[in-house]
Parts: sequence; C-alpha cells; structure tokens
Amino acid sequence: MDEFIKLLNKDYELMHYQMKDKAIIFHIQSSRKELACPFCGSKSMRTHSTYEREIQDLPIQEKKVILLVTTRKMFCDNPECQHTTFAEVHPFAAPMAQKTDRLVKNILHTSAQLSSLNASKLLTSSHITVCKSSICNLLKKTPAIVDKSSITKVCVDDFVLRKRFSYGTVMVNLESHRIVDLIPSRETADVANWLATFPNIQVISRDGAATYSSAATGSHPEAIQVSDRFHLIKGLSEAINKYIIREFPAR
Ligand SMILES: [Zn+2]
Repeated sequence: MDEFIKLLNKDYELMHYQMKDKAIIFHIQSSRKELACPFCGSKSMRTHSTYEREIQDLPIQEKKVILLVTTRKMFCDNPECQHTTFAEVHPFAAPMAQKTDRLVKNILHTSAQLSSLNASKLLTSSHITVCKSSICNLLKKTPAIVDKSSITKVCVDDFVLRKRFSYGTVMVNLESHRIVDLIPSRETADVANWLATFPNIQVISRDGAATYSSAATGSHPEAIQVSDRFHLIKGLSEAINKYIIREFPAR
C-alpha cells in the first residue's frame, strides 16, 4: 500500500490504513523535515501543532478512498514575515480542498460533457462522493480556455443581469452550439472591442437591434450578418400578419 502513497507523492509515507464497508482510509504524513512558509518562503523545522485533514482521492477496487493527512502547523521564524505560523501545504491538493488535484481533474473531465446532476450520479456510482453544487463550484473556478482563432460562426444576443438596469452579451458557437464567452455589457463599443478579439469570425447571427449590427460592422466588416432564427420567424410572422390584414380586411 505504501507504493500507492508514493505514486501520490514520493515525500509521503503510509502510517496505517483501515478497510471500511465502502471506503479505504489511508493515514499518511509527509516525511519532509523542513517546510517553507508560503508567505515569505523561509524554511522552518519548528512544529507548533498537528491536526488531520480529510482529503478524498481516486477510488480503488470499487471503494471510496479517504486520505487522513497529518498536517503540521509550523512557526515562521522570519522576523520580517507578517505571519508567525503557517499550515503545511500538501502538493497533491489545494489549501483547504477536500479532494486531491487528480480527483478534481477526474470530476471535471466527467462533468464537461454532462449536466452537474448527471455527473454527480455517475461519479457516485463510481465510488466518488461529490454533490451537484460542488461540481458547479469546481467548474466555476476552472477558467475556460477557448482558442479564439478557431471561432468562425457565432450568434450574439443579450441577456439580463438585473432587469431594466443591467444587461450582458453572450456569444454562442453556431457549429458546436456551446457558449464561447460572456461580457457584462451590450453597449456598441464594448461589444465591438470584444468581437474584435475573435480574429476569424465569418458569420454573425444577431437580433435586429442597431447595437449588434453596428458592433458587428465595426469589428468584422467582411463578416456576413444574419438574423437569428427567433427574430427571423418573429419578423416573418409580423409580415404575414400585416399582409393578411391588408389583403383580407374584415367585412
Ligand atoms: Zn513567513
């Protein structure tokens, strides 16, 4: 079992483990004598106290894995440092995190293609305990990496942040049907500057408002502007209505 802990990090050792009905609990600790203060970088060997952190890791043999990690609180002896003590940072998990980095990576990979609710159900069946809201929080913390040069056909539309007071603009990739980006504005200049950061846009689907028309023309004069489906059908319905009223007046 110690081999498994070494795969997590070579500086950690297994003290003992417990097999429970649905989980394996590994009690582990770092073998490093000296720890660096995360605030000033100076090294310390003086322990103030210890406590245990519970961190969930990837499952093994269809069992949930819990790491109970002995964590030291150390003195910082640097008189220049603003902190007199600091907590040991474990290289396999973010400070305060309840899951290892590799487990978070696994959860994000699963959640990328599913709703948070379905991802939570799937992961739970794979012996990983994570609720819907935790998945949402993890996804919010993960910066979206979009290759802006690959975006060529988009739809832009406004959305409400606070009704009658504040609006934003959303961009959807018309080929993947996924949201590409959002900005907290629908002003022409802001939208034009934002659209200009996507250098290869060829088609812009938009509503009939002058704002998006001007922004699209200003940022991508060569791009084809098309009315989006909702506004196209709305315009067509209104035209048909007017035609019927004109051609078939009430008697
Ligand atoms: Zn310090």
